[in-house]
Amino acid sequence: MLAIDGGRPVRPKDRFIIFGAPCIGEEEISEVVDSMRKRWIGTGPKVARFEEVFRELKGRRHAIAVNSCTAALHLAILALGIRQGDEVITTPMTFCATVNAIIHAGGIPVLADCETDTMNISPEEIEKKITRKTKAILVVHFAGRPCDMDAIMELARRYDLYVIEDCAHAIEASYKGIQAGCFGDVGCFSFYVTKNITTGEGGVIITDNDRIAERVKMLALHGMSKDAWLRFSDQGYRHYEVIHAGFKYNMMDLQAAIGLHQLEKLQIFRKRRREIWDYYNDRFADLPVFLPPKPEPETEHAYHLYTPLIDTDRFGKTRDWVLNALTAENVGCGVHYLPIHYHSFYKKNLGLKMGDFPAAEWIGNRTISLPLSGCLTDDEVEDVVKAFRKVLTG
Ligand SMILES: *Cc1c(COP(=O)(O)O)cnc(C)c1O
Repeated sequence: MLAIDGGRPVRPKDRFIIFGAPCIGEEEISEVVDSMRKRWIGTGPKVARFEEVFRELKGRRHAIAVNSCTAALHLAILALGIRQGDEVITTPMTFCATVNAIIHAGGIPVLADCETDTMNISPEEIEKKITRKTKAILVVHFAGRPCDMDAIMELARRYDLYVIEDCAHAIEASYKGIQAGCFGDVGCFSFYVTKNITTGEGGVIITDNDRIAERVKMLALHGMSKDAWLRFSDQGYRHYEVIHAGFKYNMMDLQAAIGLHQLEKLQIFRKRRREIWDYYNDRFADLPVFLPPKPEPETEHAYHLYTPLIDTDRFGKTRDWVLNALTAENVGCGVHYLPIHYHSFYKKNLGLKMGDFPAAEWIGNRTISLPLSGCLTDDEVEDVVKAFRKVLTG
């Protein structure tokens, strides 16, 4: 397999660097095997433990484990009582799940443009989009960089809006000493394979509100009353009552088994990603790219994605050309994201068009995500650097 210039690729084909490869150790493997041997693979003691550890990590009253962040967002919006026709403001620079969750809950997603440097939703743009129908602001701490929460919480207070935090990238992030997920009414996290830590598929919802927690728990398991979670436990059979047409969103012990050990390594992985992130910024300073800005003062960045923007004017080639060239060097990369309104469904159904979100478009046409997994070896990082430099200077 040849590089895009016809020469030899930086990385041999059989050692292709997979973007977002998870870090799985023997501890995770043994814990899953333990669940299998005990034959408790569904929702059970390990999920309860996982919730406990997460609750303590975040210092919130409740943590409810579910089977994805998409499910977490869906339930969070429902539990807040968002109704048909209510508007929820979010960013065009996010994964489709953020917007789909609003739609599935019956709400209307209203997009507010992001900032070109932080790539996070702009408080000024949020304020422009607030109407009498607005019920909530759904922020995304993009790439692990916390949003401007002082300004956003001030808007929420002034207009009496709920705040939901999509922390899929941001488990380790904090802003002025407060952790991501602890500002809003609800925080939602993802443990998808490529995220900072993984359970295969998985998510969690955190909140301080007892009523929201109870509602989320009920909706996550068919809409059954509280005791249903215990119905097959060692306390013997109990009747349950269905009080709502709920969903099947519960996390399994097989997933929590992985997650318990991943949580222990949270800061080890982050430290490694931070090291790589800083190293990339250092080694790419002379290239025709806009580098991710340093974290803002008084914040902790979760370093989920490393997203340089190709300076297409200066470089003279498109982002997609770079994407293909890097792939030919056997370095896997991603795009986070093509803005929401580039997708036909949202364009059509939300009445959006090109030009509506200039900052998101500017980013969406230039952004590329390089490998930033917590278990990349020095050798792999060096090859990513070599390949990116080759592609952008060649
Ligand atoms: C990954 C992701 C989600 C969805 O997470 P899942 O656990 O895969 O459902 C939601 N929002 C953002 C910003 C994400 O990156």
